[in-house]
Amino acid sequence: MNTAVIQDMLQQHKKRMKLNLAACAGCSLCAESCFLFELHDHDPRYMPSFKVLNSLGKLYRTHGRSTQEQLQGMAEIVWRTCVLCGRCYCPFGIDIPNMIALARDILRAQGIAGVYPHSIGEPDDAQGE
Ligand code: SF4
Ligand code: SF4
Repeated sequence: MNTAVIQDMLQQHKKRMKLNLAACAGCSLCAESCFLFELHDHDPRYMPSFKVLNSLGKLYRTHGRSTQEQLQGMAEIVWRTCVLCGRCYCPFGIDIPNMIALARDILRAQGIAGVYPHSIGEPDDAQGE
């Protein structure tokens, strides 16, 4: 793990991303526009704001000083619970997919990648639940 690389990537997007993170009021209005949130019976882990706050948000809060285990946990979130479809809508103009994509880029730069939901049978499995 290379913390300096993470910090550098965070720094490059700091102004816009920090603004977005600060603007998120946690209102959950974006939740119902995420089809994965709908498919998983409104499991809060699929709320777009949850995904962002617990990945990119966490990276900024810890100044990029996350453990390998924490980074793996973020990979689970940004790959397994989001497909970057861009359907989520935030009335405050927060671009959720863009933030999740940055979290993925940062993790990839650390040699970490996750599994897409459709590659393990979701969301079709969830549909059948
Ligand atoms: S991203 Fe937007 S809609 Fe979603 S919780 Fe934050 S402020 Fe509300
Ligand atoms: S981009 Fe991710 S969070 Fe937004 S609607 Fe698609 S799967 Fe849900």
